Amino acid sequence: MCQKKCLDCGAVIQGRVDKKFCDDSCRINFHNQKYKSKQAGFRKIESVLRSNRKILAQFLQEGVQMPSKEMLEQAGFNFDYFTHRDHQDPNHFYVYDVGISAEPDAKYILLKLIKKP
Ligand SMILES: [Zn+2]
Repeated sequence: MCQKKCLDCGAVIQGRVDKKFCDDSCRINFHNQKYKSKQAGFRKIESVLRSNRKILAQFLQEGVQMPSKEMLEQAGFNFDYFTHRDHQDPNHFYVYDVGISAEPDAKYILLKLIKKP
């Protein structure tokens, strides 16, 4: 007969066959850890998005209209993370209220989302 081990502490579980944890403290700890690592994943994505937004906003503020891919990369822009795309123009990628439009020669046009009235 195989012994079942607690998913949290790994101790052999006594009692019911369907038990997954030795007790409530192991069960609670297991779910807390799972939630924490999930939260850490979200936080990482959020921080990349915030950094991407900051970079585009900074270029806009400096009056740069068409940064090159190189310029964006050097500033630390991460091309894997955007919040959404424009419905009308699928080549416009946004990070919250600022975005980029891919142009020929590895250039990008910076976009600023104007709030519709
Ligand atoms: Zn346990």
